[in-house]
Amino acid sequence: MENITPPKHVLQVLRSLKARGYVAYLVGGCVRDMVLGVHPNDWDICTSALPEQVLEVFPHARPTGIRHGTVTVDINSRHVEVTTFRSEGDYADHRHPSTVHFVGELTTDLSRRDFTMNAMALSPDGLLLDPYGGLEDIRRRCIRCVGEAPKRFEEDALRMFRALRFSARLDFFIAEDTLAAISQKAPLASSLAAERVRDEVEKTLLTKKPETVGRMAQLGLLDVFLTKPGKELPEFSAAASLPKKALDRWMALCLVLIRRGLISDTRDFLTALKLDSRTIRCCTDGVALLSQPKPSTPPDWKRLLCRMGVDTVSCAARCLDALDGGSSYRELKAILKSGDCFTMKHLAVTGDDLAELGFRGRELGEMLAFLLDYVIEYPANNRRELLLSLAGNTEEL
Ligand code: ATP
Ligand code: MG
Repeated sequence: MENITPPKHVLQVLRSLKARGYVAYLVGGCVRDMVLGVHPNDWDICTSALPEQVLEVFPHARPTGIRHGTVTVDINSRHVEVTTFRSEGDYADHRHPSTVHFVGELTTDLSRRDFTMNAMALSPDGLLLDPYGGLEDIRRRCIRCVGEAPKRFEEDALRMFRALRFSARLDFFIAEDTLAAISQKAPLASSLAAERVRDEVEKTLLTKKPETVGRMAQLGLLDVFLTKPGKELPEFSAAASLPKKALDRWMALCLVLIRRGLISDTRDFLTALKLDSRTIRCCTDGVALLSQPKPSTPPDWKRLLCRMGVDTVSCAARCLDALDGGSSYRELKAILKSGDCFTMKHLAVTGDDLAELGFRGRELGEMLAFLLDYVIEYPANNRRELLLSLAGNTEEL
């Protein structure tokens, strides 16, 4: 923890709150990450100040989640989320909390958090508040619910996904009772908004243990999206060698699920999970490509590039190498580097050229397609005069 110090803007927010008589702590994921010695993605602060009081201290702050007591403070183009201690009771006492009362409030706030490792707070002077044994669980590399696991998953089924995501990201195990509760409460996952599930699955795909998504499936968390009961996907661990790009990871997942018969249609699966249209299109094309025999010659690759675009075909080649071995991506990169033509855009003649030769409508389109196919096969012949004469001669035939 000594190695990681909060950035200046975070310290500034803590100090400003303190100067106005409020107590404020770093809380949640950032404290966990500091203990782990990794730089937090984001810094969260919890405070005794009410949201309107936070807004008084930072007049330019934005009430981003006022219903939950969250205010976003922007300082030097960075932002920090400041959330009022949450408690069921009257907020009036938060103004000038006695220490004892305050500790009670912080503990209440921490008790609402999902896992012990995420339920710690750190005071500006370095005091760690850890009422649920988060530090010890981090030492043991253990993910454990705060309180009774089944109840916590009933309150919010997304926590089951979060448990698995954190296990993948941190390489932690899930405590026995917490895991048993996930098995038991998995059907509750069907009530979650697909976007929330998608985000958790994507974050898990982007870790060093993407096969954890198979664990989610096996536990029944993805039942609504699969056509058969889920299974573990040990072969999907190979996807860890893919770049940390969402498209690569989703495509590889779809391919494995199709091969395992756990989904029957890539488009339907991704649409149900509310992926964006580009990801849906690329993955659907890529999986179709990968379900056929592997392209074996440069013209095969170029025809695919023409039909599906560089991004999709490159991604599919990387997925093929990662999951089945081979050097498809290297072959593809050599083709791309060669500058060979594989699209109309790079064909040495245009539709206008053919119109001048007398081509019209469908015939014109067919001739362009014919010339492109010819050039894909004979890249050195992508020359205007040669193609014009070829088109002219063909027309006479
Ligand atoms: P990350 O590094 O992925 O941001 P994080 O732990 O900071 O991890 P956030 O989603 O940013 O996760 O949430 C911040 C904190 O809010 C968590 O550490 C946890 O204390 C609490 N929290 C977030 N989501 C939940 C939830 N669904 N149930 C209970 N507590 C939650
Ligand atoms: Mg966070």
